[in-house]
Amino acid sequence: MSQNDHPATAAPTFDVAAIRRDFPILQRQMHGKPLVWLDSAATAQKPQVVIDRVVRYYEQENSNIHRGTHTLAEVACDAYDDARDSVAVFLNAATQDEIVFVRGTTEGLNLLAALFSDSLLKPGDEILLTQAEHHANIVPWQFAAKKSGAVIRVAPVDDNGDLILAAYERLLGPRTKVVSITHISNALGTVMPIREMTQMAKRVGATVVIDGAQGIPHRRVDVQDIGCDFYVFSGHKLFAPCGIGAVYGRHELWQQLPPWQGGGSMVQQVTFEHSTYATPPKRFEAGTPAVASAAGLGAAIDYLNSIGLEAIEHYETELLAYALEEIRKVNGLRVIGMPKERGGVISFVMDGLPDLQVAKLLDAQGIAVRAGTHCAQPILARFGLQSTLRPSFAFYNTREEVDVLVETLRGISARR
Ligand code: PLP
Repeated sequence: MSQNDHPATAAPTFDVAAIRRDFPILQRQMHGKPLVWLDSAATAQKPQVVIDRVVRYYEQENSNIHRGTHTLAEVACDAYDDARDSVAVFLNAATQDEIVFVRGTTEGLNLLAALFSDSLLKPGDEILLTQAEHHANIVPWQFAAKKSGAVIRVAPVDDNGDLILAAYERLLGPRTKVVSITHISNALGTVMPIREMTQMAKRVGATVVIDGAQGIPHRRVDVQDIGCDFYVFSGHKLFAPCGIGAVYGRHELWQQLPPWQGGGSMVQQVTFEHSTYATPPKRFEAGTPAVASAAGLGAAIDYLNSIGLEAIEHYETELLAYALEEIRKVNGLRVIGMPKERGGVISFVMDGLPDLQVAKLLDAQGIAVRAGTHCAQPILARFGLQSTLRPSFAFYNTREEVDVLVETLRGISARR
């Protein structure tokens, strides 16, 4: 589908068949059956426009990006700058300088945790997380706590998987220097009230980081409206290539932060005695970046805009409600977490059947779902579990695919 085929604003009808034709991998078979890709929370599939953009970059534009040497260097530099612009507009950042490119959410969170442990955090300070965090939003803060003498506090979730907002509020205080929270839980699908949580954290003067890995593929993100200080995401979960992600940060905060990795591009003057550093975002982008992947991220954002984020959210909300309703009807199946608002994923277990075994049986029918800890062991432990099965959805999934999943689960359940 060309971009012009998609209206710019949310349309009441959503032509999922046309959208599926944009994704070459969705046309393939798996074990002789049509591939049913229900693992988009792990990584999303890529539309042809993104693949083409990466190919065009390597066929026509490849160069390292230091300007002023030759024409291709300028072309590649423009591709990289344009991608930064696209991300800035997509997030409603105030300027493109607020966007630092990284490899993905994990690297972005490690970057912030390392920077804060060198500057913001002092012994006795508190870092507040929620019980629903991915390991990528836990372990870097453990490093930071160890290095700085700060301590980690954890806001609990209830039996539905919703944050207990009153408990979160009670944990906020004058010692809270950093609040780092997921936008959407990758294990349960809980959409966190990040705007309200940010407002509460701001009242005690904390710096607020949002792990947007699962948020940005499913919700429009307006960082100024949320009011957060940093928002981190991975391109590969947003239909873009692997190896690129971004950290949005408020301009004045980036300005105050020291560099992280040293090397080319992040410096102004270097002698053996001393170096001076470039201004953000370059200060935090040492070395040669993933230029082709950045260009692919720009193409993915253009593609999503051409469909319309409201249309996507509307379609996905209905699809997820249908999937939840149908999945819950399967005998011996227990859904884990029933949050008030859900995005992208449904987690469940099946009585007497190991998750991995169910995943393998589904795979034999061409259905790809994830089984395991989802890199979120603490939230599974909260529900007395070590693993779950997790189908995850994107706007290219269909009701028919949900039906295939549910029928296959019924068959597996009946054979016990
Ligand atoms: N945070 C959340 C909520 C995630 O779901 C993931 C990946 O699944 C990550 C962080 C880490 O993302 P990446 O592996 O792309 O760095």
